[in-house]
Amino acid sequence: MKVTYPHMGTINIVLNALLRELNLEIVPPPPTSKKTLELGTAHGPEFACLPLKITLGNFLEALEQGAEILIMAGGCGPCRFGYYAQVQREILTDLGHNSTMLILEPPQTGWIDFLGKLRWLLGGLPVRAFQRGWTLGMAKARAIDCVEEELERTRPVEALSGVGNAEFNRFLNQLDQATTLAETAKLTKTYQSLLRQLQEGRRASIKVGVVGEIYTVLEPFSNQDLLQRLGALGVEVQRKLRLSHWISEHLTLNSRKRRQFRQEITALAKPYLQYFVGGHGLESVAHSIQLCQEGASGIIQVAPLTCMPEIVAETVLPQVSKDIGKPILTLFVDEQTAPAGLQTRLEAFLDLLPLNDISQHSS
Ligand code: SF4
Repeated sequence: MKVTYPHMGTINIVLNALLRELNLEIVPPPPTSKKTLELGTAHGPEFACLPLKITLGNFLEALEQGAEILIMAGGCGPCRFGYYAQVQREILTDLGHNSTMLILEPPQTGWIDFLGKLRWLLGGLPVRAFQRGWTLGMAKARAIDCVEEELERTRPVEALSGVGNAEFNRFLNQLDQATTLAETAKLTKTYQSLLRQLQEGRRASIKVGVVGEIYTVLEPFSNQDLLQRLGALGVEVQRKLRLSHWISEHLTLNSRKRRQFRQEITALAKPYLQYFVGGHGLESVAHSIQLCQEGASGIIQVAPLTCMPEIVAETVLPQVSKDIGKPILTLFVDEQTAPAGLQTRLEAFLDLLPLNDISQHSS
């Protein structure tokens, strides 16, 4: 069976670890590009949010390369994510593709369905093959998050622009090839310390929190390299939304842990937003408050145009900004977003940051 999945930042490394343990032949989609977006835009509904179009483009490109089984995450509302996979399946069928889409709904929405799909993926393999792959995949997700956090501290202070990114890419390539937990841990330590050396003890004086819709935060193609641009402008990015966090939140089997996490977020956002609104809308409000309390000078919210949960969050963020006394910029992105416009908005936003942060930055 030739299996594929859509890209979302570095999630391919985690999925490769799992699927290799299941002895499945992986046909990864080519890296997301302008062509991917054009394909997704040409065949996706005009008003669909950007991630649907890009991931549809990923599937079309993987199908061209011989993929037969498409793995896609499911969701349970209230936003459109719950319908993504079904819509994509219909589009692909209309286009004449005879592929199978395996939709992994969060286990809490239906245990039997979830276990049935796992069993199907396993074929004749024992369950411990899945456990091994899952453990290694999650270890790799956590490793990526640790090293990326270090990269976000390195970018604004590195002596030679781009060195940190080059090291991070080298790390990702080696991590993808790692087959054991010990190798994963060793690579993490090595690259964390390498990036620390590049910082030479310096720390950026401007810290900006990034919140928003998960795909747009994690996928550099969709946010036009937002995090990298901020780093190049001398800004240290701070964020709570990370790959391992999303995977464990989406697929965790530990309902107590999930409830506890929800309670924390709900309590923080409560003065402004009292209900789960889908996606990461509630987190955008809670994390904006949390990141500013932890020292961020301002917040950037990034989301696809027409993203319902983030539109709800956007309506209350001006009040959050007023109450905490820090600026919040909202960036909605779609296939029309131009890099020059984004850069100008970022530079203008940095000029709005509290005066003491700017003077520290230029000193
Ligand atoms: S969270 Fe936003 S972008 Fe993601 S599926 Fe829901 S509406 Fe679309």
